[in-house]
Amino acid sequence: MRIVRTIEELKRWRRSIEDNVGFVPTMGALHEGHLSLVRCSKKENPYTVVSIFVNPTQFDDPEDLRNYPRTLERDIKLLEQEGIDLLFAPSVEEMYPEGFDDSDAHYDFGYLERVLEGAHRPGHFKGVAQIVAKLLRAVEPDVLYLGQKDYQQVLIIKALIRKLNMPVKVVMCPTVREADGLAMSSRNVRLSRQQRESALALYRALMRAKEIYEKGGSVLEAKHEAMKILDNAPLIKKIDYFEIADAETLKPVSDWNEADRVIALVAVRMEGVRLIDNMFIK
Ligand code: AMP
Repeated sequence: MRIVRTIEELKRWRRSIEDNVGFVPTMGALHEGHLSLVRCSKKENPYTVVSIFVNPTQFDDPEDLRNYPRTLERDIKLLEQEGIDLLFAPSVEEMYPEGFDDSDAHYDFGYLERVLEGAHRPGHFKGVAQIVAKLLRAVEPDVLYLGQKDYQQVLIIKALIRKLNMPVKVVMCPTVREADGLAMSSRNVRLSRQQRESALALYRALMRAKEIYEKGGSVLEAKHEAMKILDNAPLIKKIDYFEIADAETLKPVSDWNEADRVIALVAVRMEGVRLIDNMFIK
């Protein structure tokens, strides 16, 4: 596995490759969720590139950026075991040579960037689009692998790729969960044992909403029941949202028949950690 720190070196490698390249962008602190994307790419492409870069411009909370887990040595070992071809691990200066000027963060995703995560994390998706555009230009992948865990991000990046007219196919891989249902996340290591217990409420709330749909209950009932579960989780300090929406537009639905595919999405805050999850209902 090659480890590359600069765009120039990455591009030199890329020019020597003619076969398909699959690309998995990450912020490191790798877990099975990330590795599932890597395996998917390895299966479908002769070459796989992974990036590890904790992107400062997508953090709306400086505390969260400071506390974000960084485990590069361990990540390198895991990626070596997976047999990827190239790890791109640039410095902040490499990706932002002009400082954090946002002259290239002008993408506007309209409604999609203003709701849910967008509403609760101002500037987050601008930062995501900014770094993903830079990474896509650097790696020039044929296929991009993203996790359903960050569903709204998948929709934003698909929209970004359309805006950039880039010939990149996007593959969304299912959310990998712990045995009890908690969605894997790099931030989970920051949870105390009690918080970890309370965090299960996200999965339970999503499952409950799905169950109500399957039993013929209404959207309102599903939301109400899910909120009850979240409200009763002792260490959840604030529920940012629990929404049931059209999976294509993220516009809330009030009836299951309003959309072909319906998704439930949730975000909560605990002391020091914010967690998100989602599940297709229909
Ligand atoms: P991150 O390092 O959090 O920026 O995530 C990098 C990629 O891994 C993103 O496409 C995420 O959606 C994906 N990812 C994170 N957690 C999971 C998970 N539990 N299951 C599947 N994909 C995940």
